Order: sequence, then C-alpha cells, then structure tokens
Amino acid sequence: MSDTVSARAAGGTHEVGGGEAGPQRHSNWEAVIGIECHVELKTETKMFCGCRNEFGGEPNTKVCPVCLALPGALPVANHAAIEHMISAGLAFDAEIPAFSKFDRKNYFYPDMPKDYQISQYDMPLTVGGAVRYWLEDGTVKECRLTRIHLEEDTGKSTHAGSGDGRIAGSTYSLVDFNRAGVPLMECVSEPEIHSADEAVGYLEALRRTLQQIGVSDVKMEEGSLRCDANVSIRPAGSKELGTKTEIKNMNSFRSVYRAIESEIERQISLVEAGERIVQETRGWDEVRGVTHSMRSKEQAHDYRYFPDPDLVPLEVERVDVDRLRAELPELPIARFERYTKELGLDVKQATQLIDNLPLATYFDAVVKANNNPKQSTNFVLGDLSRLANETETPVHESPVTPQHVAELITLVEAKTINSKIAKDLVERMWRGEGSPKAIVEREGLAQTSDPTAIVAFIEEVLTANEKSVTDYKAGKTNVMGFLVGQVMKASKGKADPQLVNQLMKQKLES
Ligand SMILES: [Zn+2]
Repeated sequence: MSDTVSARAAGGTHEVGGGEAGPQRHSNWEAVIGIECHVELKTETKMFCGCRNEFGGEPNTKVCPVCLALPGALPVANHAAIEHMISAGLAFDAEIPAFSKFDRKNYFYPDMPKDYQISQYDMPLTVGGAVRYWLEDGTVKECRLTRIHLEEDTGKSTHAGSGDGRIAGSTYSLVDFNRAGVPLMECVSEPEIHSADEAVGYLEALRRTLQQIGVSDVKMEEGSLRCDANVSIRPAGSKELGTKTEIKNMNSFRSVYRAIESEIERQISLVEAGERIVQETRGWDEVRGVTHSMRSKEQAHDYRYFPDPDLVPLEVERVDVDRLRAELPELPIARFERYTKELGLDVKQATQLIDNLPLATYFDAVVKANNNPKQSTNFVLGDLSRLANETETPVHESPVTPQHVAELITLVEAKTINSKIAKDLVERMWRGEGSPKAIVEREGLAQTSDPTAIVAFIEEVLTANEKSVTDYKAGKTNVMGFLVGQVMKASKGKADPQLVNQLMKQKLES
C-alpha cells in the first residue's frame, strides 16, 4: 500500500523527466506500455530438484547436482509449482490447455549453470486471460495477458572489487546459485496500458492476486517480483505502434511510476525535436530520476528453443483444474466490486481492506452479523484501526470480536447509546471488557431519551448559567454548544444529544 501512495505522490509533483511536462503536451501523444513480470513461486523446493526454495542464506548452500547442472543429473518437475501456475491462470481467466511442455531456451549467462534455461515456448501452461484492476478514481480497467509461462530462475552474480566487474585484473565477480532453479512465473501483458498510473494499478492487481491466491510472496525487495516495462509513444488516435524501449532495474512500484513518466517525457521530447527513438534496453537510475541506455536491441535473440528431452510433456487433468478453481478465494477485483458497488464503500476504504486481508475478513464478519456496511466501515476502519495502530495489535487479534462490533452497531442503531458512549465502549472492548450490551446493562449506560429527564437536566444547567442565557438572548447563539455540553456532562454522557439540542433551543427561545 505504501508503494501506491508514494508512487502517486511522486506523480502529482511531476518531479521527473525533462522538458515541460503537462497534460496539454501529453494530450497530443498516447503512451503504449506492456509489462513483463517475473514472479518466484512459493514452494517448499526448487523447480526441478529437492533443494530448499528460500530467500537468502549463505551463498551456494542450497544447491545440488541438478540445479548446478552436473553431468548426468536429471530434472523432475515440481508438482506444486505447476498447480500454482494453473491457479494463477484461473485467477486471470486464462485458458488452461490440456497439454503443455518444457523447452530449453539456449543462451549463455554466467549465473546460469546449464547454459540454457528450462522454460516454456509454444505450449505454456496458461494462455491468454486478463488482469482487471482499478485506479484511484474507481475506474476498473482491463489489460489482456499474452501468456503466463513457467521457467526456472537463474543464480545471482555479485560484481566485487574496485570496478563494476568488467575490467579484467582489477575486479572480480562472485556467483551464488542458491536462486538457480527456483520456480519462476513469467507473466507478459499485451501493450494495453497507457499511463504510469495504469501501470501501477495493473501491477498492484497482479501482486495482490498472486499473493492472495497463495502462489507467491511477491516481495520486490527480495526479488520475488521483478518487472520490466516496454514503453512507446504514438500520436493520439493512431493505431500503429511506435518504436519501444524496454526499461529495467525498477525496484519498487514508485520506481515503475517514475521511470515510465520519465521515459514517456524523454520520447516525446525526442520526437518533437525531430529525432528518432532507438529500440534499446534502458536502465532506471533511481537517484537521478532518468533512464539511461544499457544496450541496443537491434534484433530478437535466437534462443534455439527445443523441447527439453529430460522432461516428459505435461498432461493437465480437468479434475485438477476444477479442483484448483474451486479452491480459489474471493479475488481482489471481485472483492473491490462487492465493496464499492454492493456495500457502498469508497475506493480508498475498499483498497485499504483488500490490502489487509485479515481485516477484510473481519469486516465481512461484522457486516454479516448486522448488515450495516456504513457503520461497520466506520468502526472497523475508524476506531478499531486507530487502536490497532496505537497498540500495534491487528484488529483480528484483539479481544474485540466481530460479534461485539455488530452488537455495538445495533445499540447505536436502536439509539440505546449515543456515539460518544459508543466510542468509549470501543476502547473498553479493546481492553477486554467483552460484550458491549453487557457493559451497557451492567452500568446503566443506555441513552436517556426521556424528555422529562432531559428537561430536568436542561433546567438545572440554565439556572447555573444565567449569564450564558442572557448572552444567548442578546444574539450570541454560539453559547448553545457550551450549554448542550453542560447537559451532556450532567447526564454523564447518556442524554440523546439530538434531543438535548432540540429541547434546549425550545427552552431558550420560549
Ligand atoms: Zn538443487
């Protein structure tokens, strides 16, 4: 959530990019963005061997002959990873073909021990589908997926010494294979995203969904979610695609936002100056807030894909697909539409709940018990969330049960207690005093709505505050608040404030 806030905050100030940014200039151009994400799957073991799939650890301690590609070692596909892929495909309404296979993608990379990567080429586990996401103003958008396929992660190089690892003699590189062979999902979108805001909305939806269906922990800071963006521009209204650049090295959603904004600005400036955009890979410089050329990408690599002879093709059983579909939880987008359309929450409230699933589950239980979404939102996101922050205890782990909150709301609805007493009760429930109904009965906190009793309090207060009465009659009507406050105090907070106001006014103006 913090990523969203800061990413959009950065956008608001337009701190990035060269030239004069602004909606007017942007309106002549349309950005076309496609996003490619690599997501490490959450499994016990790696994709093709029994090594632990865990982040970190001493270098080269989670390795074996298979993930080090020693001669004669044979891979065996991880069943849990395949199920995760199918779940992800189903969550995005993708097609799950009955047959799939693994292919070898041949290229040389120092942290890839086999010199090829096991990936999927023409028969991925999922085909098509779409990510539905929402923007800050509540608009729901859709971006189709080209494919989601399964592959293995590479190891990690660390360039040490005085240089950047490229100058022989002065520097050296270290390789850690702990990550080599970790199951990796590659999720490629169609170029259907048209702004930095949409890109962040898309990524948030992807991250939430994969996290909530339990297939990945999607931590950008640990590299379990990594993304690249392909950016091009074209004259507004045009259907042709411009020359694209690929941006890499973005390590937060805020970086993604800033990098895309900056790149769109750069491309517009170039084209408007009559220059040509070069198809290339550009790195994002977080500190300087600009992208810089990394390497030109004149043509696609020839990866010489061929089916991996060590792995049998995958046959996906319908029963497994049906079971996995049935096991999917309510998806974030469905929850968003339920909260905003059915329950009337605003976008911020809905997002706050969706990004805190235990709180959302708690909220649902409160609504189920009293069918008052508005009051439930007020208590859950208001007083209870405030107490949760102050005491660093999540609401669902506090002594306040959803039934207690529902009971409290019923007491407010029935005007048995006023809002001030309700606030006090939330604090007391938080301290473990239990049922609000029991507290009210035990301590006689029920609201006084008896006019005779209230008039008695009013008369008592007016007698004690003659000066205020004179002031009121002289036109200083703002003393009313003070007088009402005195009545509330005299009634120990139990008087119905609306009735006090009404009766006080009658009394003063009679
Ligand atoms: Zn291994």
